[in-house]
Amino acid sequence: MAPVTVVTGGGRGIGAATVRQLAAAGHDVAFCYRSDAEAAATVLRDVHAAGRRGIAVRADTTDPDQVGHLFDAAGKLGELTGLVNNAGVTSPIGPFVDLTLTDLRRVVDVNLVGYVLCAQQAARRLGDGGAIVNVSSVAATLGSPGEYVHYAAVKAATDTLTIGLAKELAPRIRVNGVSPGIIDTEIHTLSGVPDRAHRAADRIPLGRPGRADEVAAAIVWLLGDAASYTTGTVLKVAGGM
Ligand code: NAP
Repeated sequence: MAPVTVVTGGGRGIGAATVRQLAAAGHDVAFCYRSDAEAAATVLRDVHAAGRRGIAVRADTTDPDQVGHLFDAAGKLGELTGLVNNAGVTSPIGPFVDLTLTDLRRVVDVNLVGYVLCAQQAARRLGDGGAIVNVSSVAATLGSPGEYVHYAAVKAATDTLTIGLAKELAPRIRVNGVSPGIIDTEIHTLSGVPDRAHRAADRIPLGRPGRADEVAAAIVWLLGDAASYTTGTVLKVAGGM
């Protein structure tokens, strides 16, 4: 039987690159997106072109019913073997004192509540040998001063989720995190600085932003048997940041 993996936010960016690499590695994949059906359809076509089964579900990860629907849809592909908690948002870059309650609540809701709801579903449904990867951020250790300290704080919370779940769900399920640095995706549009990744190049020891496929490679490794003794780890993929 092929492994069956759920990826949240698989329509664009790091999630889309992960779906494509999982399909290339022989996984059947169920992924969700929030609104961009066209982007999701393109990724789904690539899964099918790789010879794998796939399902794209419009589901907001902050809604427990929609999360349940996503995992039920994945169940149609076979027994669940993995989850990639990836769907995330930032908010406009700016001083901490200007942060609005609406932006704060949205960042907490998507990046933390959504991760917890999906991890709960996975913890209930994964069998022996299952694996979860939570996509965090180097912001969790750098703090993102002057940009979005609240987002950094929430990403630190997801690292704690990784550590706690790795211990609670062992030995049945491995739980790890990946911490991307500054990756060239559309998320920076939400921060109000679409070219942020390239503008930040001089802050990155490797001298350039990362690509989504470079993060996806780490996620796919952590999900697979090659990482069978790795749990509770948060792996930085950040060009030295
Ligand atoms: P992205 O390009 O903006 O893509 C985000 C994806 O998540 C989209 O498919 C989007 O759906 C989906 N999504 C957003 N909110 C959702 C929700 N509530 N429910 C379901 N799907 C939702 O983002 P990215 O840069 O790939 O980021 C992916 C993850 O990496 C996030 O957790 C982010 O915090 C983290 N990260 C990114 C960077 C970076 O520099 N890019 C750095 C560190 C960490 P639609 O297409 O429908 O909008």
